[in-house]
Amino acid sequence: MSERIDKARIRDLLLELVRIDSLSRKERDVALRLEREMRGLGAERILFDEAGAKVGGNTGNLIALFPGTVPQAPPLLISAHMDTVVPGEGVKPIVDGDIVRSDGTTVLGGDDKSGVAIICEVLRVLRDRKIPHGPIDVVFTICEEKGLAGAKYLDVGALRAKAGVVLDSDSPGFLFTRAPGANGIHVRVHGLEAHAGMAPEKGMSAIQIAAEAIAGMRLGRIDDETTANLGVIRGGAAINIVPNLVEIRGEARSHREDKLEAQTAHMRKCFEDAVARHRVTVDGETRNARLEFTAAREYEAMSVPDGAPIVRLIVAAGERVKSRVTVTGMGGGCDANILNRRGLEVANLGTGMRDIHTVKEWLDINDMVLSAEVLLEAIALNAEHP
Ligand SMILES: [Zn+2]
Repeated sequence: MSERIDKARIRDLLLELVRIDSLSRKERDVALRLEREMRGLGAERILFDEAGAKVGGNTGNLIALFPGTVPQAPPLLISAHMDTVVPGEGVKPIVDGDIVRSDGTTVLGGDDKSGVAIICEVLRVLRDRKIPHGPIDVVFTICEEKGLAGAKYLDVGALRAKAGVVLDSDSPGFLFTRAPGANGIHVRVHGLEAHAGMAPEKGMSAIQIAAEAIAGMRLGRIDDETTANLGVIRGGAAINIVPNLVEIRGEARSHREDKLEAQTAHMRKCFEDAVARHRVTVDGETRNARLEFTAAREYEAMSVPDGAPIVRLIVAAGERVKSRVTVTGMGGGCDANILNRRGLEVANLGTGMRDIHTVKEWLDINDMVLSAEVLLEAIALNAEHP
């Protein structure tokens, strides 16, 4: 299929990488393996930044700077994350022709070791085939799966590139340039405890108050740019006690900041209104139901314009290798969300990872090859008319 990308080599590197445990904050073993790989591929400077210390992990982000054979071409960032989600230790990949899957007891870790393997393969082909290229800044991040923390603390000052790609989504036929911002929501509704049989009028049911709030709340798909979810609810102690506390956790996401804030405010108001309706007087003392509501920004929205040079470069590269790349938006967050707020212009190219964050995760090596071809062509194209 591909004349330049070595399918067996990219598969073998993927298999090796997924067998190295690298849960978030424990990426050191895979980072050391990749440091060796980067040195072997001719990086002129390799460093680990301070992000590991800041997130309490055992390694920082790995940054490897490669000189350009066309030094005047604009430097490109290529990036993937080293950490994987749980259950992700002791991965035993099953190879079935060109399909690689987990054995059903763990994730595969193709999220995002497929991206890591693609980057290594592309660097190898550039070198072996002496394909002219500009300077390349490779960044392998930590803790992407922990609120994009590696990218948040990335030493961007060490980078030369102002634009590039992360390889961290499913289909190689898509380049994601838009993604929502998200608020994580944590709510505690306080009622008042009482014996449910002897004196229920002396209590306030936190469960009932929360239910009133949630019943009137807009959730799910709010509009084509906005979603909201309450994903965890916990409360009460026994069936004969009026419950005094319910804890709820959820989120709101939107591609637009104003809509994200509006949805978050709506969720807050539903709880406030329900809580305000409840009070009880016990022995002459009036007690009000009470609310704790916190909404914390998990990540910012990203929106790279269709006309941005990096977007046009990847689309043009896709055309040249006869792999149509469609520019679109995605519903999740990735390192690019952060990097676009940190002075870079970064889009997310698919790698072939499928059913990620499940023990049914799998991928087709042919997709990885296709993604690598597009990336390789983009790097070559970027150096053609510097
Ligand atoms: Zn990922």
